[in-house]
Amino acid sequence: MGPEATLHHTSATLRNGSIVRTPFWHIDSGQPGEALMLIAAQHGNEVQGCEVIRQFKDLCEVDLRAGSVWLVPFANVPAVQHRRSHISLGPEQPYSQDEGHNMNRTWPGDPMGNDTERVASSIHEAVARNCTRCLDLHSWSRFTATATLTRRDGGVAQQMAAASAIRFVQWRTHPANGHGTPCTIGALFNDSGRGAITIELAPQWVIRQKEVSLGMRVATNLAKLFGMMDGEMELIDEQVCTERHDKEDEERTHEVKSPCRGLFVEADLETSDRVEEGQYLGHLIRDDVLETVELTAPATGYLWVYGSHRANCDVALPPQHPYTDTGDLLATVIEP
Ligand SMILES: [Zn+2]
Repeated sequence: MGPEATLHHTSATLRNGSIVRTPFWHIDSGQPGEALMLIAAQHGNEVQGCEVIRQFKDLCEVDLRAGSVWLVPFANVPAVQHRRSHISLGPEQPYSQDEGHNMNRTWPGDPMGNDTERVASSIHEAVARNCTRCLDLHSWSRFTATATLTRRDGGVAQQMAAASAIRFVQWRTHPANGHGTPCTIGALFNDSGRGAITIELAPQWVIRQKEVSLGMRVATNLAKLFGMMDGEMELIDEQVCTERHDKEDEERTHEVKSPCRGLFVEADLETSDRVEEGQYLGHLIRDDVLETVELTAPATGYLWVYGSHRANCDVALPPQHPYTDTGDLLATVIEP
């Protein structure tokens, strides 16, 4: 056996005087090295990363050779208990309805702020400020592929993105809410020269072993990248890297939009799958003349987006309904 995990709790006093204690594991190899933070469930409906962290803790207890790991599987315990992304949201309310309680925008937190800011602050003080690297685990809807998000910094963040071995990498040039704080925990780390990446393990609301395995590979590869574990990283043949609003990247991005109204029947495909130009992607059953309209891949590449969906499909059921309007996006294929 290697080093043993110890359990600790942060403590945040909420506005009504009650206390939120956020549990975390700390594992110290006893040797010098990076202090790697893993954090999951900042959004209470994004829970795949919680199991990644549980499994990674077991691995570290056997294989951690250098540095230390700080593992926060439930960053936003009140939101997990609320079963929604933020503590303040009700049924079908999108994340953007209350950015003030969006923990992902609160770092480094505020001990005198709202309850979410107070919880974030307690985690920052007890964990984040001790750490030199960060892996932030999120999830988005099943209609967008699992992806690594970070900066194209020519340095540690980019090395971490390559080591993530996730098919899609989306470069994010600026923190979503501009420069300065409060910001995402990834921006907080990257702005201070400590590398961070975010992984979106699709989808939200469920825990699937296939996604957990991807998350475990990310965490293990990062530990190997930083010399914290022995062995070779397990990489993939090619990654598809894009930057939002980049002209060249848009040229290798091909959208499939619905030519008519009808019910979209998916082929046996998922986001991240490789498709060949001309490959069958599914069909529409028109609800006016009952015709079948087949859709095919416009290029060879990987499915970045797949399935009939509309805005807020991550928090509500009707936007996930396969009934499709003319012009709705059904698939996006990106060439590597
Ligand atoms: Zn999230």
